[in-house]
Amino acid sequence: MCGIVAYIGNRNCKNILIDGLKRLEYRGYDSAGIAIMVPQDPKRDALGNVTIEVLKEAGKIKELAGQAKESRIDGKCGIGHTRWATHGEPTKINAHPHQDCSGKIAVIHNGIIENFDELRSELKEKGHKFISDTDTEVLPHMLEEYYDGDLLLAMQRLMGRIKGSGAIVAMSVDSPGEIIGARITSPLIVGISRDGNFLASDMPAVLEHTRNFIVINDYETVRLTANKVEIFDNNGKPIERESFRASWSITSAEKSGYEDFMLKEIFEQPYGVKESMRGRLSNGELHFDELGLNSKQIKDIKKVQIIACGTSYHAALIGKQVIERWAKIPVEVDLSSEYRYRDPLVDEGYLFVAITQSGETIDTLAAIREAKSKGAKVMAITNVVGSTVARESDSVIYTHAGPEIGVCATKTFTSQIIIMYLMGLYFGKIRGTLKDADYKKIIDELHVIPNKIQNILNRADELKEVARRTFKHTCFLFLGRVFGLPAALEGALKLKEISYIHAEGYPAGEMKHGPIALTDAKTVVVGIIPDDSVYDKMLSNIQEVKARKASIFSIISEGDKNSGKYSDYLFEIPRTIEELYGILTIIPLQLYSYYIAKNLGKDVDQPRNLAKSVTVE
Ligand code: GLU
Repeated sequence: MCGIVAYIGNRNCKNILIDGLKRLEYRGYDSAGIAIMVPQDPKRDALGNVTIEVLKEAGKIKELAGQAKESRIDGKCGIGHTRWATHGEPTKINAHPHQDCSGKIAVIHNGIIENFDELRSELKEKGHKFISDTDTEVLPHMLEEYYDGDLLLAMQRLMGRIKGSGAIVAMSVDSPGEIIGARITSPLIVGISRDGNFLASDMPAVLEHTRNFIVINDYETVRLTANKVEIFDNNGKPIERESFRASWSITSAEKSGYEDFMLKEIFEQPYGVKESMRGRLSNGELHFDELGLNSKQIKDIKKVQIIACGTSYHAALIGKQVIERWAKIPVEVDLSSEYRYRDPLVDEGYLFVAITQSGETIDTLAAIREAKSKGAKVMAITNVVGSTVARESDSVIYTHAGPEIGVCATKTFTSQIIIMYLMGLYFGKIRGTLKDADYKKIIDELHVIPNKIQNILNRADELKEVARRTFKHTCFLFLGRVFGLPAALEGALKLKEISYIHAEGYPAGEMKHGPIALTDAKTVVVGIIPDDSVYDKMLSNIQEVKARKASIFSIISEGDKNSGKYSDYLFEIPRTIEELYGILTIIPLQLYSYYIAKNLGKDVDQPRNLAKSVTVE
């Protein structure tokens, strides 16, 4: 996920690109770059005899903006990119635009080229030289290879070869009057103005220049000149498409029309979850070479030790259950901040896994250093390429959830859970502890999980209504068992973080050992009661709190007629297998917490006293 902006027209574009990137910085922010077609003789040939000049910088856009201000480079056609690294660290060399061997072509890309390894080897054999670690760099070299006087045709051939996701934008000095764009999954829109035309990932990049837009759909390509826009379908046939006029203000559009980043990120989960599976789960098969473990090493694992903090810790609790269930390996989960001070045992057969959204969480980093000092090999699961934890670990699994701006974790959590499922499944398969039929069933269910998440999101208004009726309560207990327990803990954490209401997540069976004393008419009990192996036990626990006058809000499986008898409010989730209720049950709780906080007028994106990545102990 990143930001793309491109312009061709009768104005100089350097500032248009830099300002556009600033507006897109929320999409990614580890490095940025622009490429401009610079006329050799500006008086004679505005778009005739040109060279491509590239400016890039690691870090925030302001670093690039500073460099651009000093530079005299400018021209009427250019492309710009703010990167959110997926392949290769966020360095200046890895920043986009990338170029071919001759320097005649420049490309920016948002997404992942899954088969870049194979393409890269092929291109290297043909003599192409690579300078970066990115997947993207194959694209300009492929265009160089395919270019035969028409950049659009070269792009269309390229589209037939790549697998993965992407919005791609390219220009070439040999076709100086045009910019070519293409889309597979990642967003790309055209902006049309009297002074020229634009391509962008999102409207805010160019809203100050135009409100007239055309959306490019998957597998389409587009040719932009200063005064013309041509769109082509999958087969290269021209398509007619009307433009529309956006009514958005610049600020609202930065959140793509959502009120807050948190809500936007909750709604991005079907996509985020798909991205986490992309390239790892395809055609019913699981590929997980990134783990850096061969079959023998996986079979030899004696124990998995997971460390994490906050929301990542809750993902680890799901990981524990699936790895134990499916792969029959004992798993221990520790809070990072506790692990390092308890003089933990590290043995050769242990696999050490650290989960951190930002890759900068200092407690987790310190625990990794502690474990490494005792000889452990560390595998990190993180969302941020090139982060400190990624660099200090022996292997890294990226969650690919895209940048998360809201302080409280939502989409990064569900992506972490997906990685936990894939890991448990992979280990189970290799160790032969999972029956083929079960393996297949789980994979089938994982394939449809994004649609089931979408189904819940489509009914967000139901949760808004429950929140409206309950937000004045002062005590919330979230109860669950087995796969419902991590969701209960996470639901309570969300509510505390953004609404500042006292909330506890608790194992439902433990209520009678103490917390039930809290229960009275001021309490809301949120019961996680999917139709799983502990369903009857959960129902009994809910009746116990109901008898003490708490209001009951139950999260239940579609069509469950029974739980309603004991509940004041109900929300149905689609049916799935027991283990996958771990991911589905959290979605309504994220929305519920969100709407309670909104009813209370809280700033959900920047809750008091909290920061996105916790870099102090
Ligand atoms: N996969 C590309 C990279 O790592 C593009 C990432 C992005 O969308 O910013 O450079």
